[in-house]
Parts: sequence; C-alpha cells; structure tokens
Amino acid sequence: MKRIALLGATGSIGRQAIEVINAHPELELVAASSGTQAIDGLAPLTQTGGDPTGLLERARPDVVLNAVVGFAGLVPTMWALEHGVTLALANKESLVAAGELALAARARGGGELIPVDSEHSAIFQCALHGAPESIVLTASGGPFRGLTADRLADVTPEEALAHPTWRMGPKITIDSATLANKGLEVIEAHFLFGLPYDRIEVVIHPPSIVHGLVRFRDGAAIAHLGNPDMRVPISYALTYPERAATPVPPLELRTLEFHEPDLETFRLLPLAREAGERGGTYPCAFNAANEVAVQAFLEGRLGFLDIAGAVEDVLARVDGAPARDLTELVEADRRARELVPVL
Ligand code: NAD
Ligand code: MG
Repeated sequence: MKRIALLGATGSIGRQAIEVINAHPELELVAASSGTQAIDGLAPLTQTGGDPTGLLERARPDVVLNAVVGFAGLVPTMWALEHGVTLALANKESLVAAGELALAARARGGGELIPVDSEHSAIFQCALHGAPESIVLTASGGPFRGLTADRLADVTPEEALAHPTWRMGPKITIDSATLANKGLEVIEAHFLFGLPYDRIEVVIHPPSIVHGLVRFRDGAAIAHLGNPDMRVPISYALTYPERAATPVPPLELRTLEFHEPDLETFRLLPLAREAGERGGTYPCAFNAANEVAVQAFLEGRLGFLDIAGAVEDVLARVDGAPARDLTELVEADRRARELVPVL
C-alpha cells in the first residue's frame, strides 16, 4: 500500500489524481489540502488554507503529490525533498523558483523526485534508456498559435482560456497561451535532468501526442507518445516503478506535425530561457512576475501582450543574486512581485 498526500486536491490535477487513486487498491489517500475551496467527500486528513507542514507531519505519507498552483507549492516541495519522501511534482513553479535549493534538499533527503508535468514525465521515461545528450519539449502552441502581435493585443481572458488540447486550471492555461508555460518547463527540465539550456529544445506540436523526446549520443532518439490526458503521467508518478492500467483509450496513430516556435510574438519563452541562463534568483523573479501579471490579465487589468512586458521589466530591475536559503528566496519572490507594474 502506498500512502499518498495530495496538495491542491480541488484543482484540475488534484481531481484527476483522486480518480487515479480511487481506481487503484494499492494507493491510499491519507491527506488532502486545498487553497480556498473546501474539500468535500474525502475521508483522509484534510486542510484548507495555511501551511500544510503539520498535515504532512501527521499523515506521514510515502508520496507527496504536489498539485498546488504557483509559488505556494514551495512548502510541500521542500518538505518532501528534505524528508526523503517521494515527490510526485506537478507544481512546476516551485522547482523553477527554487531549483538549486530544491536539488540540495533532495540530496540531503535522498528521496525520489518524479515529474508529473507531461513533457517531463515523458522525458523521465525516455531517459531510463540512457543519459540524454539533449532533450526536446513539445508545446501545443496554445489557442493563439500562428497569430501575430497585432492580433493579440486585444484578446480576452475567455479567448486565452480556450486551450485546444488540454483542460487545465486557469493559470497554466494562460501560461500555455503566452508560451510562458514552455519557458517554465525549460527551466524545470534544466533542474530535473541536469542539462545546460542549450541542450533543451522546444518545438511546436499542435496535436499534443508526442510529449517529449530524448536524443542520445549514438544518434538515436526516443520519443514518448500518448493521448493528451494527465491521468497517464499522474498514474505513472504514483505507481512508479510499476505501470498501472488507466481508462485512457489506446493511441490512434496519425500524422504528426512540428514547427518552430514564434519567439518574436511569444516573448515569454525566450525571456524564461534567458532568466534560466542568468541563474541565481532570475528564474524566481520570472515566475513571480509572471504569476502576478497572469492574475492581472485574468482580472482584466492588463493586456495579453503586457504580461511579457511586465515580466521583462521586472527581470531588468531585480539583482538576481542567488538565494542562500528559503528566507532569501521568499524575499526575492516578494520583491519581484512588488515590481510588477500593474494598474
Ligand atoms: P488548478 O488551479 O486547477 O488547481 C490548483 C490547486 O491548488 C487547487 O486545489 C487550489 O485550491 C490549490 N491552491 C491554490 N493556491 C493555494 C495555496 N496558496 N495553498 C495551497 N493550495 C493552493 O491548477 P492545476 O491546473 O491543477 O495545476 C496545478 C499545478 O500543476 C500547476 O503548477 C500547474 O502548472 C501544474 N500542471 C498542471 C497540468 C494540468 O493539466 N492541469 C499539467 C501540467 C502541470
Ligand atoms: Mg507540461
């Protein structure tokens, strides 16, 4: 029996995780948390709002599934890594913001870190066949693929929330429309797989069938394919190293298309890469500024293209000095949030 603590239980990943856990007699949900929405109909220890550390201490899980959205996911990420408890990580923002501190905590704790993000789950699985020389992350391109900046100035939150292939929470859906999501994923991949940024490629692949690809030094490449359904990477992370059945239908093979991303229009992707390459707390600042700007866009206080502008402004104004501990990291996050020029 694996005892699972699920943080962010009321969200898109959280609800799908409950479905996966309920379908497996070997998985037991022992704790669940949420941000503001009450958790209904679950038997485990639950908590809404506040610091989840006490809940995790009481539940003593074998696996923490972190499905919180945003920087708030940092606490359970660090708790699991420090305690050597397997971390099934959907919350990419914590690894982006605190990459070095998280890897140091994992080294101390000695536990497993298994990605739930579909691209990283795919690459994790491909990388079981050998050390990657380089990796390729695929992106659907979001609802605005092919559009240029003049068409994007006036898009509404409703249009940006209509993702063509994935049904997800609002923050990651906006990040997918701006390509900030792929930028966060480039940084996430850098920390998960220990590769320099110039060995992490991004390609636009509208059908979201190929989730990731690993190139090896002998010239071979292994790709991971599947229907776009998060229950697959959730199930993989929770049952690893086994593979369990899911209700996801078998993949029908069809034509696969790939394009170069438009880095002029979707500026958050190159900005994220640049923040990653600069290192220190630049990725933390990128993440913080993006979170604030996305929220402002969703509330109608900021234009779609101004999200990238706001993030660029903040990155130019922070010092990016590395954080020696979590207190300094939280401070870097706070400072970056304050610098976001929202009305
Ligand atoms: P969501 O908005 O649907 O759900 C977020 C969950 O986090 C909710 O349960 C909410 O109550 C909780 N939460 C929010 N603020 C919190 C706080 N301050 N403290 C504790 N809990 C808080 O988001 P989602 O789409 O499920 O995404 C969750 C994470 O997984 C994000 O980091 C996202 O990038 C990542 N992810 C999601 C998908 C997907 O398909 N949805 C795919 C890959 C990665
Ligand atoms: Mg992803």
